[in-house]
Amino acid sequence: MHILDFFAPILVYFHDIFFLFGKNVVILHPILYTRHNRMKVFNKIVDLQNQLFEDRKQGKSIGLVPTMGALHEGHASLVRRSVKENGITVVSVFVNPTQFNDKNDLKNYPRTLDADCKLLEATFDEATADCKSPSAKSIYVLAPSVEEMYPTPDTRQFEYPPVSTVMEGAHRPGHFNGVCQVVSRLFYIVKPEKSYFGEKDWQQIAVVKAMVRHLQLPVQIVECDIVRDKDGLAKSSRNTLLSSDERAIAPAIYKALKASVTYAKKHTVQETHDKVVSDINAVDGLDVEYFSIVDGNTLQDINNWDETPYVVGCITVYCGKTPIRLIDHIKYKSE
Ligand code: AMP
Repeated sequence: MHILDFFAPILVYFHDIFFLFGKNVVILHPILYTRHNRMKVFNKIVDLQNQLFEDRKQGKSIGLVPTMGALHEGHASLVRRSVKENGITVVSVFVNPTQFNDKNDLKNYPRTLDADCKLLEATFDEATADCKSPSAKSIYVLAPSVEEMYPTPDTRQFEYPPVSTVMEGAHRPGHFNGVCQVVSRLFYIVKPEKSYFGEKDWQQIAVVKAMVRHLQLPVQIVECDIVRDKDGLAKSSRNTLLSSDERAIAPAIYKALKASVTYAKKHTVQETHDKVVSDINAVDGLDVEYFSIVDGNTLQDINNWDETPYVVGCITVYCGKTPIRLIDHIKYKSE
């Protein structure tokens, strides 16, 4: 029996007590989760950098998966891919305050570092199960405090029109600026060869790619498919905030998007737009904030289907009384 098998439950107990009093004692996580042979948790950036310095000397490639935690199968799919393609996978778990334009959203965002570490252990074990030399692979979790990530306020401004100013950019002022602040920091800290992003946040990928081009960063952005629940709802950390009634109506979003692909074959862009909006708004408890049918590269609205070979519909819907903001998208034409 490992000594931590005895102490870990006691530490978790004290961690949970502190958490109840509003102090998330993240400092315990390196002790609790570093007992897994090839998984290490870092709260301090310099400790992670020292570790990566050693790994790089051994010629190991580094993949980065930036997340805000409350991990689910969508995140796991990115991690699995990184573990398969790299010697080292760094998963950052950091609820980045600078990308929230709504204080309540930031306050209510789920924080579940214990469960996240467990999911990462299981995902790592699964991804390395059929690997020829699994001992050459490791996974590191970077879970810094806000002060650790931003020792001084980040005053940098990022704007990448047209991709950063439409849709989420227009409805969540400052959101993509915050995303670029944290992602660029993570790129400077980790210096990954590849970084993995989910198509769930489809516009975010376009903005991050624009930033990488602008800053000339030597990192490859790997786009990963969206993962959905069986009923079609895009997996999201925010889904845990839905009540059971809200969860029951939320799949209507993807249902309407999917149905609109067939509808679009015999209708105009405007008619398709209106049909999706009215189908979703017809569900009591769902309220479309915007639905934009855009050119997949420029993210600008299109007026007819022949304008471009790549067409995507992007939607944001408020669900329930709180309400919870859900995003999704559908491809009408792919490149
Ligand atoms: P988040 O923790 O929401 O900031 O997401 C971290 C990364 O996981 C982003 O690149 C997301 O696009 C990706 N991600 C989140 N949900 C999903 C999903 N359902 N399918 C695929 N990727 C996802």
